[in-house]
Amino acid sequence: MSNRLLTMPRPTFPDSCKAFYAAAEAAGAIIHVECLWRRGIRGLYRKSVGEDELVTIAAYRGTSEPQSVLFVTTGLHGSELYMGSMLVNELMGAWDKRAPAHVGLLAVHGLNPWGSSHSHRNDENNVDPNRANWEAWKLRDGTLTKVATSPEYVELNPYINPRLPDLWRYTGCLKAVCEFWLLEAIRKWSLAEGKRKLKRVIGTGQGDYPQGVFYAGDGRPTRSAIALRRIVRRCLPKSAERVLLLDLHTGLGRAGEFSLISHFPKGGRENERMERMFGVGTIEATAADESIAVHSSGVIETLVADELAREHGALFLGLCVEIGTYKLLKSSWAVCARNAVGTYLYEDPECPYARESRAYMDEIFFPANRALRESVLERGREIFRKAIEGLAQCT
Ligand SMILES: [Zn+2]
Repeated sequence: MSNRLLTMPRPTFPDSCKAFYAAAEAAGAIIHVECLWRRGIRGLYRKSVGEDELVTIAAYRGTSEPQSVLFVTTGLHGSELYMGSMLVNELMGAWDKRAPAHVGLLAVHGLNPWGSSHSHRNDENNVDPNRANWEAWKLRDGTLTKVATSPEYVELNPYINPRLPDLWRYTGCLKAVCEFWLLEAIRKWSLAEGKRKLKRVIGTGQGDYPQGVFYAGDGRPTRSAIALRRIVRRCLPKSAERVLLLDLHTGLGRAGEFSLISHFPKGGRENERMERMFGVGTIEATAADESIAVHSSGVIETLVADELAREHGALFLGLCVEIGTYKLLKSSWAVCARNAVGTYLYEDPECPYARESRAYMDEIFFPANRALRESVLERGREIFRKAIEGLAQCT
């Protein structure tokens, strides 16, 4: 079956919506659309994209009373939508051939439509929707713990969120500015140590710099969280006894490789079950510091677990699936540069950096290299095959 995104060098958010919708329709899936982004945000988005395009689409494929559900989500980080969408479209088309009747598929396209439309990782309020779900913690244990900002982040902030308007007067090249700034930041700690620290300090998230990177919000649910909760309530069959969430991301890890990242405690029964599905040593537990990703609170797995605990009582397993594209320093500076453009220059039509930073984001999170995309599809099939077999056998 043809995969429209595979051959598009630079798909836009509407392209991806249409491809997903067409794949779901052709597969006979039940389609549900969330339109939470239509009104009330920053005025500026209305000028640049049509209101109706900012939607999250869910599609359920399978029997109405499945025992297990494979739950795949894409585009929580807006700019990371396209690789995941390409994988899901193919999975949807081949579902009948691959999965037994008692396993259903719930696929979600574009959990952060504003971010995808504007090539931003974060949402319309500059909140990272994969760090901001701490209201789920509150509901579980009764306390609301704000995401702490590490002293290292405070030190790093001027470098990773440079005041572009000042720099812009001296140079026309965004890449040079941001690379130089990031390297300066890392050099403070020595290069080898610096890269590790950079990943940890940025990746953990922070709660005090609303204009900074990986901002975890002020505790209010993001639109992505509201849409996701509604989708779980409305589209995930109540008969499901087991749910495996694969939340697809891009930009961390070696090019074309998949990392299966678990936020469950190391040695817990969730990780054991997932190791049985995907193979010994394949699950990277962030809690044990084994992962290329860092342990952070407020991730989407928390929210889905919370929602399922109220509504379903199903056994919940969940992974953040990272698909590598470019080296960490490149993806870091692209995210920092785009964030700085969004913070300081977004509404300036004269800004020479806006288009440049967008082009870098698009390439880093969905490289145009056809061979890489095909190899990602190949590995994706393997991951989905193991997930389906595991769900079919899991008791
Ligand atoms: Zn991500």
